[in-house]
Amino acid sequence: MSRNESGSPILPGATIGILGGGQLGRMTALAAANLGYRCHIFCQNPDEPAAQVATVTTLGRFDDADALDSFAARIDVATLEFENVPIETLERIAARVPVHPAPSVQAVAQNRLREKTFANELGIATAPFRAVGDAAALVGAIAEIGTPAVLKTVRFGYDGKGQVGIDAATDPTEAWAASGAGPDTDGGILEGFVDFACEISVIVARAPNGETAAFVPVENRHRNHILDETIVPAPIPDATSQMARDVAIRLCEGLGVVGLLAVEMFVTAQGDVLVNEVAPRPHNSGHWSIDAGRTSQYEQLVRAICGLPLGDPTRRCDAVMKNLIGDDVETWREIIADPTARLHLYGKAETRPGRKMGHVTRLGAVTCKRGRRNA
Ligand code: AMP
Repeated sequence: MSRNESGSPILPGATIGILGGGQLGRMTALAAANLGYRCHIFCQNPDEPAAQVATVTTLGRFDDADALDSFAARIDVATLEFENVPIETLERIAARVPVHPAPSVQAVAQNRLREKTFANELGIATAPFRAVGDAAALVGAIAEIGTPAVLKTVRFGYDGKGQVGIDAATDPTEAWAASGAGPDTDGGILEGFVDFACEISVIVARAPNGETAAFVPVENRHRNHILDETIVPAPIPDATSQMARDVAIRLCEGLGVVGLLAVEMFVTAQGDVLVNEVAPRPHNSGHWSIDAGRTSQYEQLVRAICGLPLGDPTRRCDAVMKNLIGDDVETWREIIADPTARLHLYGKAETRPGRKMGHVTRLGAVTCKRGRRNA
């Protein structure tokens, strides 16, 4: 069994192509190997975390047509572990093999204006926002949205990069320059500042037949704009948790995702949920599911894109996942000596400040009921 032209499942033994060579690809490749699949990584350097554990690697840039064609000729299905793979790259591969989630999903997720507009059109709340084309337009947008507000680039922002806080005293010209927004980022977006009680995320898997399975909402705590800890489950009221799951499933269905959709949300003091952004790929806030879930997000991705039945998304126990960022990784010896801690190192040779080197999941009390879907 190889190509999925008839919509039939892509069976173990087939080769999954993964665009991007980082830790998300590495953990996907490990989960794929457990189910008997091979992985072929497309990335730039032979020693990237995913390439270290994959069967084959094609080295190339995302605009290298020859490398992409040779990659596409040797895989049965493609997915990605990196958000900003150019749409043209995805379409080139999609002309040859299925790409999940589809390029049309990526086109929404890569653009903050499109993703918030898409959510609002489904009746899903976000922070108020305005498109901003230049510094002069920022003045008008600030007048409409009010302060405090946050200016972001429409594309390519991550971990707080391309973001500037705006208050009543901010000089709009300086803020525009500091954000880095411009033609290369499709401009900027001004969002009302959300005085959130906590930040949460929900990861939903969706199969080609429309079946969905959502992981429990988790709380995400950041340090220096980078995810520091994920608390499983998020300590939020049941009604908020249900609302968050419903929102994530509606977005996943609305976008027609096959694979995973991670939805980041703010929870307000009133218990309302506002969508901040979506990522159609495995997510840092889902690492816990490897050790504390009945099915990991990575296995769920493999199942979904290959058309296999989705796994049980419930957790076996509560958990706290902590990223090992930069020098944090030096603590690995203490972590590995702790029987409640599950250590994951990504094989990155060079430690740099702000670089995600690994993570640890600390397992807590066994709490869950078995077998509930979307729980
Ligand atoms: P983002 O790149 O959109 O995920 O934003 C990075 C972080 O900045 C978020 O995790 C929040 O902590 C914060 N942030 C982003 N947008 C807003 C907003 N509209 N109001 C308050 N905080 C925000």
